[in-house]
Amino acid sequence: MPFMRKNLAASVVFYLVAFFLLLLSCIANPARARSSAYEAALPAELKTAKNMCALVACTEVFPGAKSFSERMGQPPYVEAYGAPIAGKKNLLGYVMLSTDITDTPAYSGKPVVTLMGMDLKGRFVGIKVLKHSEPILLLGIPESALLNFNKQYLGKSVTDKIEVGQSRPDEGVLGVDAISGATVTVIVQNQVMMTSGMAIARQTGIVAPTVREAAKYLVTGRRLTWAELVKQGSVQRLLVKPEQVGLEKNVVPFIELWFGDLNHPDVGISLLGENSFNNLRSQLKPDEHALFIIRTDGIESFKGSGFVRGGMYDRIQVKQDADSYTFRDLDYLNLYGIVADGAPTYNESAIFIIRSKAFSNAYPWKLSFLGNRVDRATGTRSFASFDAKYWLADALLQGGRPVVEEAAAPYVRIWKSRAIEIGLFCLLLIVVSIAYAYREKLTRMSTHKNKWPVNIFKYSAWILSITFVGFGVMAQPSITQVLTWFHSLLFQWTWSLFLTDPFIFVFWIFIIITVFLFGRGLFCGWMCPFGSMSEAIYKVGEKIGLKRFQTHLPQAVHDKLKWLKYAIFFGLLAVSMFSMGLAEKLAEVEPFKTTFLVGITNRAWPYGLFVALILGISLFIERPYCKYICPLGAALAMPSTFRWFGLKRKQDCNSCKACAVGCGSLAIDKAGRIDHRECLHCLDCMVLYTDVKGCPPLSKERKRRDREGLEIKAIGKDGYFIPIYPIPATPASEAIKAGLDPRMPTDPVKPTYKTNATGLRWIILEIVDHVWPWNAKSWSSQRGLQIAGVALAIAASLAWILTAIGQLSSAAIIAWWFGWSVYEVLIRLSGKRYVKDGPWWQDNYRYASVMDMISYVSFKNLLIGAALFLSLKTLGLLIV
Ligand code: SF4
Ligand code: SF4
Repeated sequence: MPFMRKNLAASVVFYLVAFFLLLLSCIANPARARSSAYEAALPAELKTAKNMCALVACTEVFPGAKSFSERMGQPPYVEAYGAPIAGKKNLLGYVMLSTDITDTPAYSGKPVVTLMGMDLKGRFVGIKVLKHSEPILLLGIPESALLNFNKQYLGKSVTDKIEVGQSRPDEGVLGVDAISGATVTVIVQNQVMMTSGMAIARQTGIVAPTVREAAKYLVTGRRLTWAELVKQGSVQRLLVKPEQVGLEKNVVPFIELWFGDLNHPDVGISLLGENSFNNLRSQLKPDEHALFIIRTDGIESFKGSGFVRGGMYDRIQVKQDADSYTFRDLDYLNLYGIVADGAPTYNESAIFIIRSKAFSNAYPWKLSFLGNRVDRATGTRSFASFDAKYWLADALLQGGRPVVEEAAAPYVRIWKSRAIEIGLFCLLLIVVSIAYAYREKLTRMSTHKNKWPVNIFKYSAWILSITFVGFGVMAQPSITQVLTWFHSLLFQWTWSLFLTDPFIFVFWIFIIITVFLFGRGLFCGWMCPFGSMSEAIYKVGEKIGLKRFQTHLPQAVHDKLKWLKYAIFFGLLAVSMFSMGLAEKLAEVEPFKTTFLVGITNRAWPYGLFVALILGISLFIERPYCKYICPLGAALAMPSTFRWFGLKRKQDCNSCKACAVGCGSLAIDKAGRIDHRECLHCLDCMVLYTDVKGCPPLSKERKRRDREGLEIKAIGKDGYFIPIYPIPATPASEAIKAGLDPRMPTDPVKPTYKTNATGLRWIILEIVDHVWPWNAKSWSSQRGLQIAGVALAIAASLAWILTAIGQLSSAAIIAWWFGWSVYEVLIRLSGKRYVKDGPWWQDNYRYASVMDMISYVSFKNLLIGAALFLSLKTLGLLIV
């Protein structure tokens, strides 16, 4: 048997090495493993170049077009021309770039850059994805799937109601087929194409603008001061800071504008005075609207230095839903003064006229300032639009503001369209949580020979997690999500990014809560689709006669090999700091995408082989992937160090070790202690804990009582028979009652600094302990480390300050964070070698293993880093 175990260990290592070689060969062979549009390098000038079609192949999305105009309009588009007819231009339609119109992010958090052609009737004639960052389309789903998805739009009009899913003729909905495994991407893509198409169709007159009911004013005749106008919302501010356009941070804004409606008599008269207002009104036709803009501060002009007579004011625009209005010189009037009391001084001003029946100031609108943003890292320029909303107050309109139905964000549509499945998924998670919360009752009902009271729930959870969660709604969590969350927590939290996949979102809420309550075991042991499949295969192997070949690696080998998954996790984390794209590729070490999202048969053979190997080995070794490779398991194991509720142990567990023999996760060490990072909550040891025939000390006591004719009482909470006669309390039994279990994962430690501290003093000492890693012991014995620490602390502080003034890149900040955390782990190990066991508000300290300390420091510093970034951003000191 030892020979066989060694062989198996060698096989596991061999296959791992083989996989990495194959993976590398795939990564190095873009033609096979990489879709051509993934993170494709687009010309830096693409966003701004007048001659867009010189940079991208517009002919590919407009077959038959012979030439193209320069970019025109706002949002921009180009005209596509056929061969001239009688020497005149022959307009065939329009070509647009999706990111000129909307930057809605897809699943990766970045937009899918799409070039589209549309004929004069608003029908799509060509679609080409120029660039995307979707991991699922990287090595998983072939690019042809996206091409086929896009082809479904050809011939369809922007006026059609196109939705991803089934057609619903009675509601006039035209369905397009989703890409299996990339639903979120295609729902967003659908939204982007329809929004872009409609914006250009409206601008070019293919689709008539929406006619909105004109405002009916409620006029009081009151003259309002500037402050009152601001308070009422009749005057709004649009502020752009230099750092928002890639310039050095400065107290002087890039531009500060104030603007407002001039048609409402109360507002107009308050701002202009009665004569000027009447004069203005006399110049306006019935469907025309006037607004004023003043610049009160800034280094930039809103009129623009490049403005020429007859030209367009290309820095200012008004938007109302999908309609946008730009201004030419004929739409401009001088603003001679603002009479409202308390009005600020200004150095640039204008009155602009909107000449359209479609515009109504009863409805909300936005003023857009179009700035030229420079990427300081690459020097590339791009247009950025900064908006400020405007809507006349209720009190200024008869009957108040009309009801406006805001177009739902893509994620809202996704949640609505999958409401039933989401509901069922939530129900599943709730039922599993409740069953687990009653684990003690279930394990008491079970014995080592009959574990069905536990297994009925666990096996049902496995079946549903594999079929419904894994293959059905494809909600297998992945390490790439952890990396994304990590980066988002530190730099930019975007709710819409996480809400785009409702199942993953809900699943992560479940995972975060249960990891802190119980450790990763509930998710990994009961609900992870791949983990469940892996263990289910092992159980099937047992039933079909392979039991005699089933084994586990020798504990010594296991104890070394289990660190591999942490190394993979930290490796991915480190790579993600420099290149998220590369980290996503390397995250192919997870077999999840191949198994659930894409399917073994749909991928290149190395991926299929990898999954087959893992699942094949799972027949003989319980959960080899979970124990040794899974970076997600490692990421969840680290916070499991601080789970609030552990599994029960009694004094005899230290010497008996019967449950260690049966622990499939090899999570029980020589001293009978459970490593909660490795425990997958099979609950076998909990079954034994109260099993009067399976647990050796209980069995011995039961037999003794049988022999001596004594009463056999139930098993108490301490895992022993309730004594026939009360027995005196011992320090150990008192400690167990108080929740301080002497059989914690490591020995209890009592740091003296907090003895008898309560209330505010306790809180202060607690905070100091977390932020100050040194103590007298480490200070005196580790002089070299101290100096290094102080130097590091100074460097880290400098890094924060440089970041705050926009001088240091985010990668450098994370590198500092990483370096500091490593130092903190070392210094704490030399002086403050303890961590808390259980809830943080209790003082159950225990000796910290290296992994305990790494888990504690990395988790704590992540939270501190996130809080620091958030505060700096809230205070406006940080732009990342
Ligand atoms: S270790 Fe990984 S694969 Fe295994 S159950 Fe946990 S997350 Fe799933
Ligand atoms: S037997 Fe092992 S894996 Fe199962 S609950 Fe106990 S310690 Fe965890």
